Amino acid sequence: MKLLTTTLLLTILIGAVSAQDATIMKYDLDLTQNLDTLFVTLNVDGKLAEENSVFQFAATAPGTYQTMNIGRYISDFKAFDKKGKEILVSNPSVNQYKLSKTKKVKTITYKVAETFDTQVSEYPIYLMCGSSLEEDHALLNAHTFMGYFEGLQKAPISLSIKHDQAWKSGSALKFVDGAFQANDFDHAVDSPILLGNLTTADTTVSGTKIEIYTYSQNDKLNSSLLLSEMSAMLDAASKFLVKLPVDNYTFLYHFEPNQPGTTGAWEHSYSSEYVLNENDPTPEYLSRVTDIASHEFFHIVTPLNIHSEIIESFNFVSPTPSVHLWMYEGVTEWASNILLYRGEVIDLESYLANAVARKIVVDENYFDTSWSLKKLADESFNGGEGARQYGNIYFRGSLVAGLLDIKLLELSEGEMGLRELMLKLVDEYGKGKPVSEETFFDDIVAMTYPEIRTFFDKYVLSNDPLPHQEYLKKIGLQVSGEGNNIRVTKMKKTNADQDKLFEAWSKNKTL
Ligand SMILES: [Zn+2]
Repeated sequence: MKLLTTTLLLTILIGAVSAQDATIMKYDLDLTQNLDTLFVTLNVDGKLAEENSVFQFAATAPGTYQTMNIGRYISDFKAFDKKGKEILVSNPSVNQYKLSKTKKVKTITYKVAETFDTQVSEYPIYLMCGSSLEEDHALLNAHTFMGYFEGLQKAPISLSIKHDQAWKSGSALKFVDGAFQANDFDHAVDSPILLGNLTTADTTVSGTKIEIYTYSQNDKLNSSLLLSEMSAMLDAASKFLVKLPVDNYTFLYHFEPNQPGTTGAWEHSYSSEYVLNENDPTPEYLSRVTDIASHEFFHIVTPLNIHSEIIESFNFVSPTPSVHLWMYEGVTEWASNILLYRGEVIDLESYLANAVARKIVVDENYFDTSWSLKKLADESFNGGEGARQYGNIYFRGSLVAGLLDIKLLELSEGEMGLRELMLKLVDEYGKGKPVSEETFFDDIVAMTYPEIRTFFDKYVLSNDPLPHQEYLKKIGLQVSGEGNNIRVTKMKKTNADQDKLFEAWSKNKTL
């Protein structure tokens, strides 16, 4: 995920198709009855059992690191048997509805308030993780309007949407027989849908089909423009990753002036979704949009691929933090910047100014540096100060990843930096083979050097001041200035060791 208003980002998983599950969830979503309200009908194609009596809405969603309590947006929840006779339901907690006579339930109906225009007193939902329905478009994240029967999270889902005939739709989901098809609830949540008056563009990069769908309220931005801006980034990403890790990928863009909340982007396995302010398409703004896309795209590596068991079997009922947020968001933010430098999309000066100096300024002046990266992870779901400090994962988290890269390059004499370590982890772990929440730090130490244990202890688990000057000097860079005027530049005089390490740091090692 990437939050922009303060600045942040996200995550998801795909569930395996459970072929033995005969029960299919058939959703009909009606977007035509009322602006701001989604009308949902769920027909159960198959049988429910007693143990499926709780219908669960999401308390959170993968990669958002925020509490959402989607039940707050649900009203008029009703259950019916096959003859259309109403069956009693209760609402024991904010995100749960309990059915009586569960086995008889065939249909459920409810209304959902869109998140963009619904005021809440706590836990506001980031725009890119929410839902919006307007006259000329709709943005749909499945967890905002779908739920699942307890025990049937893995049941396949078919979603048909009633909308204006003139609308186009974009999603990584397959569209078959008039409906979007998802393997299960997790897959649906992993696959947002943008509909409306959209522009589209597509291309192929290193064998990967790339599609872009854009809603821009005043037509200031469009898919062709974004695609041409993004192609150098995609090329650089494919060099950084050796090859692109998916065979298709969809970018969904939503631009409006004065967006009503925290803007940003959210990553998924085969797509990413951007809710951004509709600014004039200046080179600066387009390059900012590309930076965010680079971040979201790199998430395919982590946490979409490399993640702990806490992410692997995601808990939609109770938000559960993972200590490895430093990697999911910190390493991702670092990689999304340095891959542009190493791929010659941006120059050294621009990299050092935006990805190092600016991040030092923000970490030191706008956030509480007594919060370790571990504490940012632990507190992220708590709202209030936890949600406020969480934004520093994109600054301090990225800086720590950059320091780890330099430390690894130093210890390996330029042979294995953080990029090479991440690629090794991709080989070792992945979907279905999560890293261990408990032992992952030690596992990395075993794959690298004993000194890395001390590094994690100091800069991930504790809040030691970050040793920018000491580390940057190893590659012939220096920090100068203070407060808001910190700069990072090349040293005037360097020795052979510094030059060699700078060379290794500047280029993707050929693998
Ligand atoms: Zn992110």
